[in-house]
Amino acid sequence: MEDVVWFSEVGKDDTKSVGGKGANLGELYNLKLPVPNGFIVTSQAYFSSVSSSGTLDRIRSILYGLDVENPLLLETKAKACQQEIKKIKLQTLLQKKIDKFYEKLSAPQRSVFVAVRSSATAEDLPQASFAGQQSTFLNVRGAREVKEAILASWASLFEARAIFYRVQENFDHFRVGIAVPVQKMVQPEVSGVMFTLDPVTNNKDKITIEAIFGLGELIVAGSVTPDHYEIDKRSFKITIKNIVSQEKQLVKTKGANKILAVSKPFQRVQKLSDDKLIELARIGQKIEKHYYFPQDIEWAYKGGKLYIVQTRPVTTLTQNSKLKTQNSRSQLPPTSNQLLLRGAPASPVIATGRVSLIKSKKELYKVQKGDVLVTEMTNPDFVPAMKKAVAIVTDRGGRTSHAAIVSRELGIACVVGTGEATKKLKDGMIITVDGAKGLVFKGKPAIDKKDLAFSKNKNLKPHKTATKLYVNLAEPYLAPQIAAKDVDGVGLLRAEFMLAQIGVHPKKFLEDGQKNKFIEKLSQGLSTIVHAFGRRPVIYRASDLKSNEYKGLKGGDKFEPKEANPMLGYRGAFRYIKDPDIFKMELEAIKSVREKHSNLHLMIPYVRNVSELAAVRKLVEEAGLFKDDYFKFWMMVEIPSNAILLNQFIKVGIDGISIGSNDLTMLILGTDRDNEEVASEFTELDEAVLWAFKKIVKTANAAGITCSICGQAPSIYPELTEKLVSWGITSISVNPDAIDSTREIIYQAEHELVTRNQNHGND
Ligand code: PEP
Ligand code: MG
Repeated sequence: MEDVVWFSEVGKDDTKSVGGKGANLGELYNLKLPVPNGFIVTSQAYFSSVSSSGTLDRIRSILYGLDVENPLLLETKAKACQQEIKKIKLQTLLQKKIDKFYEKLSAPQRSVFVAVRSSATAEDLPQASFAGQQSTFLNVRGAREVKEAILASWASLFEARAIFYRVQENFDHFRVGIAVPVQKMVQPEVSGVMFTLDPVTNNKDKITIEAIFGLGELIVAGSVTPDHYEIDKRSFKITIKNIVSQEKQLVKTKGANKILAVSKPFQRVQKLSDDKLIELARIGQKIEKHYYFPQDIEWAYKGGKLYIVQTRPVTTLTQNSKLKTQNSRSQLPPTSNQLLLRGAPASPVIATGRVSLIKSKKELYKVQKGDVLVTEMTNPDFVPAMKKAVAIVTDRGGRTSHAAIVSRELGIACVVGTGEATKKLKDGMIITVDGAKGLVFKGKPAIDKKDLAFSKNKNLKPHKTATKLYVNLAEPYLAPQIAAKDVDGVGLLRAEFMLAQIGVHPKKFLEDGQKNKFIEKLSQGLSTIVHAFGRRPVIYRASDLKSNEYKGLKGGDKFEPKEANPMLGYRGAFRYIKDPDIFKMELEAIKSVREKHSNLHLMIPYVRNVSELAAVRKLVEEAGLFKDDYFKFWMMVEIPSNAILLNQFIKVGIDGISIGSNDLTMLILGTDRDNEEVASEFTELDEAVLWAFKKIVKTANAAGITCSICGQAPSIYPELTEKLVSWGITSISVNPDAIDSTREIIYQAEHELVTRNQNHGND
């Protein structure tokens, strides 16, 4: 892709180059929806600028060894990284291109006001994960300012919170890029957010709209509580109107954004007329239909004309779609004695905790695990503290404010817009937050159980599915958090991450006579995970480091061969047979953990042929693991030979298989999964790859063993999940952030299957 492209030149398949935001803008523009025009500086421009200027190398050394849990250090280093990027001198050619695009966008005027947005891009990673982390610059005008804003957008990739997030989620800083859409500004009289469902309850029968005077930024910033409207999707009747008095608005005056007063007579006025609400809702439905997925849309009205500024999939689809909560303040139940506050319900969980009152960002260190974070309004700097909290209560903001969105993502309780939480609640008080109803109680009130619309402890799972949903897990420290979600187990626990965490080559331990120390360290990590998952199965996949990766471990150089092509080299089952030392230690660790936790099982990666599997099975047998009937022995199916001769592999004696779609796709299509140059040719939806998936699932079913999948594919392609379910796969394992949406997709796919079968039955 070019360095700079028009919205009209991109669509939804271009997220790698233009980010989720850019791709959606292109898609909407091409759908002829009323989108203000613009262009996008692609991630290619970012990558080539930061690498050719040597900036990346400097950032690498700035971040080396950084402990992100140290907020002061994190902030200093983040600033230093940002300085490096802001210093970049853009290549002349790129400068010229940006100037030309900006000039054309402005024509027939000379320099128009634009919004410079940013959108992180990452191969293989769902875009939503980065939402809200990067900066937007409004009212930018002039070619020089536009270029400065582009550099500032790039720099925002290294804001402290973004660095923290990537480290927490295990994303490589240097594989995440950034695209910058530059879009004509609309100076709206009224603007806001629309969800094509109820974002709090996930009820898909309605469209919810929040509206304020002036720029919509104040909604997400939470500094203004917006009007709240709900529209029935079938009848297009407005079912709820909750009009809130608005005293201040964000408007542009002389090029700067200013907070101005809303004149008195207007403060209590309905922000959008009924006609406009319905016009907007219809467009919302059209966009949702186009994407086949509920959308979160930013819109604006200027001079009576509607503009769609942005759309993205709703990222917090949770399993509680059947939940019905009270929808407006007027419908809240009668006041109880212990009721302290009312606000807007923002995340349907109920939680009790100690109040931690936060007046400014500087006080965030006060928040302890299990606290209720009480503040005027949160912003992205609050996220690390929000992760520790069980609930959030704010003075201001609506259901689409930062606090609300993040709480839903974290699955914690949240009540926003209470007006006076920071006055009424005091540090140390014990309170209960009912995020489904928007209520805050003193102490642990004996709420009638019937009144609890959704309680975390009750773990309501309206969507039971026959196909199991597993998660791919990497880091032990994330296990408790992920185990609290609606998952049936861990379908892939990659040993590599634990080995990397231990940091020393396993053979170095052996050489130093510290075999037991290694086994102990590995067992510790494993125990944390299997313990968190209780009785749910955890599939530990034995080490599949390649020689180049093993070399990165301390002492690694000495033990690893030099290979031209490690991806096809000394890895997987063959290693265990050729030199069983490391594998044997892994087996020891499994054995010791299984003494307490029988939910731990073993999977073998990268098995090239049937005799390799037999030889590895023998090692497992010698370790005594098969003595326990509950122990499961799985093999990954990730080499074409596995698919072709699957029945022979099964005969060796395995309880289950799991499709490694990453390697399998690479090997069927002959396309290096890590090579940027051929990335466009790598797709799990290729017909040949789908043929293999289907054959594998059907063969496993016929042989009576379980079949799972644990590559990236189902985390990215819902349509693949649907197919796998229809072929009869036993389980699907996805990344943590795809858990909720995948449960929904599985549920829908199973539902369709049942309906189809019934209809056939009636024929
Ligand atoms: C795969 O190949 O699909 C897989 C899950 O294993 P890895 O990505 O670790 O090679
Ligand atoms: Mg693999």
